[in-house]
Amino acid sequence: MTLIKGFHRRRKDTWGKRVAGKIVLVPVGKVDGRILEGLQESTGKIFEKEVYMGQPLHSPDYAYDGRRKQYFSSAILLKLREVERGVGDRVLGVADLDLYVPSLNFVFGEADLENRVAIISLCRLSQEFYGLSEDIDRFKERVLKEAVHELGHTYGLGHCSNPHCVMHFSNSLLDTDIKKASLCPQCEKRL
Ligand SMILES: [Zn+2]
Ligand SMILES: [Zn+2]
Repeated sequence: MTLIKGFHRRRKDTWGKRVAGKIVLVPVGKVDGRILEGLQESTGKIFEKEVYMGQPLHSPDYAYDGRRKQYFSSAILLKLREVERGVGDRVLGVADLDLYVPSLNFVFGEADLENRVAIISLCRLSQEFYGLSEDIDRFKERVLKEAVHELGHTYGLGHCSNPHCVMHFSNSLLDTDIKKASLCPQCEKRL
């Protein structure tokens, strides 16, 4: 599940590969460096952008809901908006924390199109979360798909009806596993 804010306000001149700008990856709390390195390389290739690591954000205690034992992703997005960046740059927060928005049990990620920031949660992408044995390759693949999906929103892409396209809406991990980490030809054209 993902939430897109300000999607109706998208403007064509802010789209994708035709615009300048970089991608800034920002770890939120403690995040495995190997995961971040993998994302840096792969997202750069997919969006044809330079990707650099931003200053990590401290563990977001301000966003923690003790009753839900989860972190409010929109509150973290507000902090990510403050990250220093150049014109056209996109910010992607990466959190190894369970994220939620009030209307949903959890979110894999959230994007704020107007401010060109997004966040993904690694928490529910591992096999271990579901009591299964570790599968690091599958985990990395899922992380990349969620990252590309949320970044795609920041470049103005909406949800795609093609179940194999990375912009397809993931209601569950099954949807994430079915789709590829890349854009379908239609979404690629829109980028
Ligand atoms: Zn989405
Ligand atoms: Zn598509």
